[in-house]
Amino acid sequence: MSEGTAKGFGEKPQPKKEERRKFQAIKGTRDLVPPETALWTRVEQTAQEVFTAYGFGEIRLPIFEQTDLFARSIGLETDVVSKEMYSFEDRDDTSVSLRPEATASVCRAYIENGMQQLPQPVKLYTFGPMFRRERPQKGRYRQFYQIDAEVLGGSEAPGIDAELIEMVMAFFGRLGLEGVDLDINCIGDKKCRPKYVELLRQELRKVKDKLGPDSQRRIETNPLRVLDSKLENEQKLIEEMPHIGDHLCEECAENYRGVKKELELRGVKYRENWRLVRGLDYYSRTTFEITAKGLGSQNAVCGGGRYDGLMELLGGPPTRATGFAIGEDRLILSLQEGGKTPLAQGRDVYIAWMGEKAYATSVRAAKNLRAAGFSVELPPVEQKFGKAIGQADKLGARYALILGDNEVVSGEWTLKTLATGEQAKFSEATFLEFLKKHG
Ligand code: ATP
Ligand code: MG
Repeated sequence: MSEGTAKGFGEKPQPKKEERRKFQAIKGTRDLVPPETALWTRVEQTAQEVFTAYGFGEIRLPIFEQTDLFARSIGLETDVVSKEMYSFEDRDDTSVSLRPEATASVCRAYIENGMQQLPQPVKLYTFGPMFRRERPQKGRYRQFYQIDAEVLGGSEAPGIDAELIEMVMAFFGRLGLEGVDLDINCIGDKKCRPKYVELLRQELRKVKDKLGPDSQRRIETNPLRVLDSKLENEQKLIEEMPHIGDHLCEECAENYRGVKKELELRGVKYRENWRLVRGLDYYSRTTFEITAKGLGSQNAVCGGGRYDGLMELLGGPPTRATGFAIGEDRLILSLQEGGKTPLAQGRDVYIAWMGEKAYATSVRAAKNLRAAGFSVELPPVEQKFGKAIGQADKLGARYALILGDNEVVSGEWTLKTLATGEQAKFSEATFLEFLKKHG
C-alpha cells in the first residue's frame, strides 16, 4: 500500500517516512534508569527514616494547581512566576500550572484540610518532580526533583528553626554527603525589614549607574534581591551596602541569637552570610542555604527559611511556618562525584537449568526464593550450563543454582559461588537455610 492513500475503516494512516523519527525526551528532562535509580531510592528512603525520627509525616500533593496559587505565594515579580512556569488553560478556562515548588501547595493543603485544628506545629514532608522553564545545564533541569519539609503552626521558639536545620544536616550526614556548608541569616520581620529595605534602596540609588540593568530594576521592585547578584562587577559595590544585621528590631535580634545558640547546642556548624536573602515580603527571620561539593556553580543543594506571612496571604489564619527544599538532582550529583554510587544491583541467584523436570523444580525454587526475599533470575528457555554461567556472571549474580535432571532425581542441588568457583551440594531444604544464613 502506498503512503498517504486513504485507508480502510479502523486502519491508522502510515506516517510519512520523515515522520517515523525517533522520539527524544523534552529538553531539560531526562530518564533516570538503573543502576542510578537505586541511589535515588536510597536517598528517598533515608529521608523518610530521618524525617520520621523527627516527627514528620508524609504529604502527597497534586502536581498541578491553580496558577493563582503560585502567582500569589511566589510573587508575580519573580523569574519563576513571570517566565518559568508551565501554565495552560484547563477545560473550564481556569489557568493551571505545573508546580515549580511545593511550599505553596503544602500551605494550601494545610488550610484546605483544616490542619490548624491538629496539635501544632504540623510537620510535613513531601517529594517529587517540580517544573521550571530554565536554561538547562549541569544541576539545572526543567523537570527536577525536590525533597521538601515544612513546619506549620506552633510558636516562634528558635528551637523550631534549629531543629529543622539539624534534621537536614543529619540527613546529609547519614548519606555521607561531602563538603557540606551551611549559611544562615536573619532578614527581620514586617516591623524592621521595611525600614532596612528603604535604607538599602537609598544606598543603591547612589550607585545605580554602576549596576547592571537587572539590579537597576530591582532597586525599585525588590532591593533585597540585588544582594543576591552574582555579577562580578557588582560585588564590590554590594559589599559596601548596609547589613541587615545592624538594623534588626530587638525581637528579631533576640530570636536570631536564640537560633544560633540552639544550633551550637546541637553541634551544627554554620556560617553567617548577611547577603543570604529571600526577597519576598512574607519571608521573615531565619533563612538558610546549604551547599555541597562537586557541583560547580549550581552548588546549592538546599534552600530554606521562615515564612510567617504566607498562610495569611493564601487566605488562612495567621500561622508561623518554616521549611526547606532540597534539590534532589544536585544531591545525587554530589553523592556520585564523591564516589557514593550504589553497587550495581546483581542477582542473588541465577538458576541454570537443563531438562523438563529440572525446569519444573526451578520454577518452584525461584518462587520460594523470591518469597524469601532473594533476587532470582530464571531463564525462560533452556541453555547449556556453560552459557548459563556466563550469563549469570554478566548479571553480577552471586550464586548459580545448577539444576539438571540428575540433580532432580538425586534431590541434591549444586550451588556455585560465582566469585570463587566453589561448588557445594545441598538438599532443597538445607539450600534455602544456607542462603538465608549467607545470602
Ligand atoms: P538556584 O539559585 O540554584 O536557582 P533557587 O533559589 O531557585 O536555586 P529554590 O527555589 O530555593 O532554589 O529551590 C531549592 C533547591 O531546589 C535549590 O537549592 C536547588 O538545589 C534546587 N533547584 C532549584 N531549581 C532547580 C532546577 N531548575 N534544577 C535542579 N534543581 C533545582
Ligand atoms: Mg532558581
